[in-house]
Amino acid sequence: MATGNGKDHRRRGRSAATLLLLAWYDSNRRELPWRARAGEASDPYRVWLSEIMLQQTTVAAVAPYYLRFLDRWPDVKQLAAASQDEVLGAWAGLGYYARGRNLHRAAKLVAEEFGGLFPGSAEALRKLPGVGAYTAAAIAAIAFGERVAAMDANAERVIARLFAVEERLPKAKTKLAVLAEPLVPQARPGDFAQALMDLGSGICLPKKPLCGVCPVAAHCEGRRLGIAEGLPRKAAKAARPLRRGAAFVAIDAAGAVYLVRRPEKGLLGGMLQPPLGEWRERFPDLETALGEAPFRGRWRKQPGIVRHGFTHFELETEVYVARFRARPNGEGMWLSRGELGTAALPTVMRKMIEAGFA
Ligand code: SF4
Repeated sequence: MATGNGKDHRRRGRSAATLLLLAWYDSNRRELPWRARAGEASDPYRVWLSEIMLQQTTVAAVAPYYLRFLDRWPDVKQLAAASQDEVLGAWAGLGYYARGRNLHRAAKLVAEEFGGLFPGSAEALRKLPGVGAYTAAAIAAIAFGERVAAMDANAERVIARLFAVEERLPKAKTKLAVLAEPLVPQARPGDFAQALMDLGSGICLPKKPLCGVCPVAAHCEGRRLGIAEGLPRKAAKAARPLRRGAAFVAIDAAGAVYLVRRPEKGLLGGMLQPPLGEWRERFPDLETALGEAPFRGRWRKQPGIVRHGFTHFELETEVYVARFRARPNGEGMWLSRGELGTAALPTVMRKMIEAGFA
């Protein structure tokens, strides 16, 4: 964005860019299942639900989940009244399961402590489980009209380019938020937040920004300097370590599968899984793997490896399968193939079970 001479000039440039962006949004806004129609008030529950689901995930992946949740739990009180298992079961497949647990905890808090009404400011919203700075700002701006900048990856990219910010992320985050703040209009801060999201996802694309059709191109310093495409610069990512282990798919005579629950805290907390062995640098040899099996049985290693990428590491699993005429005793549970469909099973665990039946 042009730096100009003097404060007035800068302020005029900023408000012109804001007006251009809002005008563009009025005729180009995306239709999204959780978005209120132009001129309609946004429902905080819907905004919150969609924003939690959208963390780390795409609009296309979220839409069917959002619609199913809304259909089953049309308001926060009904979501709060559901069991954690029901919520995690409905969440299964969306990944990052801590978000599903936090969603339920936040719903309970809003229902029980706030009478079913979401707090109306970014500062108060941040106290809800699973609501970080961006999500709080997005809900506050969109649902309550608070004048705050909602800085997600799209917004950060647009602002970094508009102001030609060359510092690397994540260090540059604070600077980007400070630069964005004066652009947020007093009226329509929610539309402004959504306009930035839409511009970032449709025009100011990560690899090839479509500057030729961008409504704020005339105000874009990154474009003027010819460096927009390379912004925002990012710190080099550390390589993710690889872990390997064994999974045990025990199947009874009727085809039910034996599952155990993960500890409440930590990775995939509270979710179900087939019993797993320890994760190491190498796969365990047969003897070690069988020593980790939940029951004695005729365990057979399936061909192939189940691979899954977590945020901080890669996991490779060899799957062992055994069939039992009589169910051995264990502290876990046996679920039929039908019950598996709605169980709180993360995608990676489903892949292991499928490999057991292959
Ligand atoms: Fe992004 Fe290009 Fe628009 Fe600048 S001009 S905001 S780089 S699309």
